[in-house]
Amino acid sequence: MAQTDPSMPPPPATASRRAFIAGGTASAALMSIGARGSTPLPPGLFSLGVASGDPEPASVILWTRLAPQPLAPDGGLPGVAVPVRWEVSDDEGFARIARDGTALADPRWGHSVHVDVQGLRPDRSYFYRFIAGGEVSMAGRTRTTPAAGAPVDRLRLCFASCQKYEAGFYAAWRHMVAEDPHLILFLGDYIYEGAPGSKDAVRLHRNPEPFDLAGYRARYATYKLDPLLQAAHQAAPWALTWDDHEVANDYAAALGEDNEDPAVFLRRRAAAYQAYYEHQPLRAKPPRGPDMTLYRTLDWGALAQLQIIDDRQYRGARACQPPELVAAHKRYLDKVPLQCDDLFDPSRTMLGKAQEHWLDERLARSQATWNILAQQTLMHQSAEPNEAGEMRYSADNWSGYPAARDRIFRRWVEAGTRNPLALGGDIHAFAAADIRDPDKPDRAPIGAEFVGGSITSTRPGSQFKRLGAQNGLSFAEDQVRGYGRLDIDRNGGTVTFRGLADARREDSTIADIARFSLEAGRPGLHTESL
Ligand code: FE
Ligand code: CA
Repeated sequence: MAQTDPSMPPPPATASRRAFIAGGTASAALMSIGARGSTPLPPGLFSLGVASGDPEPASVILWTRLAPQPLAPDGGLPGVAVPVRWEVSDDEGFARIARDGTALADPRWGHSVHVDVQGLRPDRSYFYRFIAGGEVSMAGRTRTTPAAGAPVDRLRLCFASCQKYEAGFYAAWRHMVAEDPHLILFLGDYIYEGAPGSKDAVRLHRNPEPFDLAGYRARYATYKLDPLLQAAHQAAPWALTWDDHEVANDYAAALGEDNEDPAVFLRRRAAAYQAYYEHQPLRAKPPRGPDMTLYRTLDWGALAQLQIIDDRQYRGARACQPPELVAAHKRYLDKVPLQCDDLFDPSRTMLGKAQEHWLDERLARSQATWNILAQQTLMHQSAEPNEAGEMRYSADNWSGYPAARDRIFRRWVEAGTRNPLALGGDIHAFAAADIRDPDKPDRAPIGAEFVGGSITSTRPGSQFKRLGAQNGLSFAEDQVRGYGRLDIDRNGGTVTFRGLADARREDSTIADIARFSLEAGRPGLHTESL
């Protein structure tokens, strides 16, 4: 076998991972790479940090990616698998090891490691670390979820999105760590794919706009090198979903914003999805080409179920795109008239048939006190004027897919979903709104939605804030960056919007900018005075 030859290119990504690992195990030479007494590995293996995610009662995913040269396409490692030892401990000093083992960092997956640790105890904190090439990683802290159906006193989760590297520093993550959340929920736009040099940048992307795997790896490495982001991953388990910028601005399934050849776009999407998988602590199976199943549920005992959805990969065509206008603009039309032929067409989809069916079923079966729809963007139908002053809907968020959104709300009613809440990101603004039954809009709310601002990404103008009340939002703020915090127990809870004084400063302070109380059994939000 030539697998120990560093000059050999990695095998094709379509080969079975299991077969490769099985083959690798048979090779003593392969196993000795990085082990004591063999060819030494370059130092700095853990430059991208460690992370954990997708916790369950007995299990959590541990992640790292070996990359001594993080911006290089191969991370600075030869194209051979590297054994990585992992340890999970009850204590910070790693005196009492609860579980340990060895995983292989596979060059075809960027020498990333995803360990599915089993046999842990529910509702417990653990520490974890990795060891490779004689180096010990920094330690991370994680936790398991409460046992299925177990009574649980409380859950604190922080939710965030949109952390454009060039738009600011990551003070938000420092403050979030200080809040000691059980879980961090990231709702999309972990990276931005743009070329370096955006207006008002405080720091620059380090590689050109990515279109291939090497480009996306370098972009993730740029973000993952940030010490405050690393610290947030070390502090708590994460659950992530993606939005558009993990691939390309405003993409819809196989369509980019320029409506380029879908076959070309899908090659780009495959590279982006692979890099996403390689850099996040995901329980999901690795992508196959341009396809990756990301939607899933996460249970917090009897208290809460998160339904984590993917509104990018399967969405149907955008509404109101007259071909001659699209051709003239050379891109899709991102703002659409309040009425057009197909905007309200009931057959249009945001989640795709399979995911929608899956969600329907999950909602029918959930016994949780709180049901949290972890999704990407604003659900409330909201209009804004275009340059000509004509009111328009976004073609890219749920306002452009109203029938698909209303099907979810109707399902909540039909399934008797208890205390539904939607959490979102994407719009670079904070927003809060009651959710009403689309068929009985005059009745009391059936739920509430909260969009948790952006870690750094900005939004031009202040129309969203100005038009908030007119659009039926209880709260709208588009000039402050930050994140949301959800605290719930069996009887009620609080959503707090946390706003940075200045996201362009690493030492920015933070303060509550809005607070809403929730009551179990009485859907809707109640604004508290600060
Ligand atoms: Fe964004
Ligand atoms: Ca977005």
